[in-house]
Parts: sequence; structure tokens; C-alpha cells
Amino acid sequence: RLTAEGWRTVFRSFAAKIAEQSAYLTELDAAIGDADHGSGMERGAQATLAALPEEGDAAAVLKAAAMSFIGKVGGASGPLYGTAFLRMSSALTDKDEPTREDLLSALEAGYKGLVERGKAEPGDKTMLDAWFPALEGLRAGGSLQNAAQAARQGRDATAPLVARKGRASYLGERSAGHIDPGAASSALFWDALAESLE
Ligand code: ADP
Ligand code: MG
Ligand code: MG
Repeated sequence: RLTAEGWRTVFRSFAAKIAEQSAYLTELDAAIGDADHGSGMERGAQATLAALPEEGDAAAVLKAAAMSFIGKVGGASGPLYGTAFLRMSSALTDKDEPTREDLLSALEAGYKGLVERGKAEPGDKTMLDAWFPALEGLRAGGSLQNAAQAARQGRDATAPLVARKGRASYLGERSAGHIDPGAASSALFWDALAESLE
């Protein structure tokens, strides 16, 4: 299930979840940003569906997702998700039968891409706050289900935080009291991973 078909399923599931929660993601972004996270993520996810290659390996699927997010989603989150997916694609290049170890390396590479691109740290009230605990759980040998649960907990834990990166940081202390939109969309991504790859 870690092959191209598994990853196509990931992005189908991600697109469905994003579509379902688009209004909610926008509502979160309206509180501490510019109210475009739902629409932006929906554009990226739909463009990915349209670009999903029928042939090719997992790397090709992730490359299509990366190009879709970079090309179709503006703002902070497009280039961030795009970079993560591109790094994951590179990590899976030439892995014909990806193992669980390869999956972990790919997700690590994706996370590293997010950090390098956005220069944020866990605790800054960004998508890293969902990715980091999820990855920690996987690294420790946990299941993808547990990782997805950790991502949801990380998402919820962004509520009291003051944003130190991105648009929400312009609000200073007033950014506290709201869940970070990118952490919320990232929790959906980890849910899609758990559903599709395990
Ligand atoms: P924009 O803020 O440009 O309108 P979006 O609304 O699509 O972009 O995405 C906002 C989300 O992007 C934030 O909720 C946060 O999770 C994430 N984000 C913003 N800046 C950074 C950063 N430097 N590093 C990591 N994530 C970031
Ligand atoms: Mg926004
Ligand atoms: Mg914007």
C-alpha cells in the first residue's frame, strides 16, 4: 500500500477531507489571517486530483501534488506543502517497493523541507505543530493511526499559542485563542495518510 496506488488514495482522501472542511479552514483563517486557507487548499487538492498520474511510482504521484500546490495555491501554505511533497517525492525516487522505513524517511524529508522553507519551529503556531508530534510518534515506532492522533492533538494545542510566524504573527497576543489553520489542514493530511497507507 506504500506504492503509487497508496499515494493516489492519500491524495483522493486528502482532497475529500479538505473539501468537507474547507469552510471550517477558512473560518479559522478569518480569525487570525486572511480567510483564504480553505479555498487555497481546496484549489491545490483538486488540482492534484486532476494531475494524478495513472502510471509511474509513488515519487511521480508526490511530484504531481507538489507541482499542483506550488502552481495553484498562493500565500504561505502553497509553497510550504509544495516543498514538503517535492522533498517526499525526491526521497521516494527509485523506490519501487517503498518500505515503512522509506515512508518514514520521506516524511522526515518533507518536514525538513517545511522547516527550511518557513524557518519556523514547533511552538510557533504553524503547521509544524501538527507535523512534528506526528513524526515523533512514527519515529518512536508508533502506527500511522497514532501519528494522525498526535497531529490532531498538536493542532488543538496551537489554540493558546501566540503566533510567531506567518500572517497570524502580525496579530501578536491577539492570535492566541484560535486554532492555527495550517495545523488543521495538516492534521487532515495525516488522517489521509493513516487511512490510506495503513
Ligand atoms: P496565507 O497566510 O499566506 O494566506 P494560508 O492561509 O494558505 O496562507 O496558510 C496559512 C498557514 O500557513 C498558517 O496557518 C500556518 O500554519 C502556515 N504558515 C505560515 N507561515 C509559516 C511558516 N513560516 N512556517 C510554517 N508554516 C507557516
Ligand atoms: Mg490565509
Ligand atoms: Mg493569503
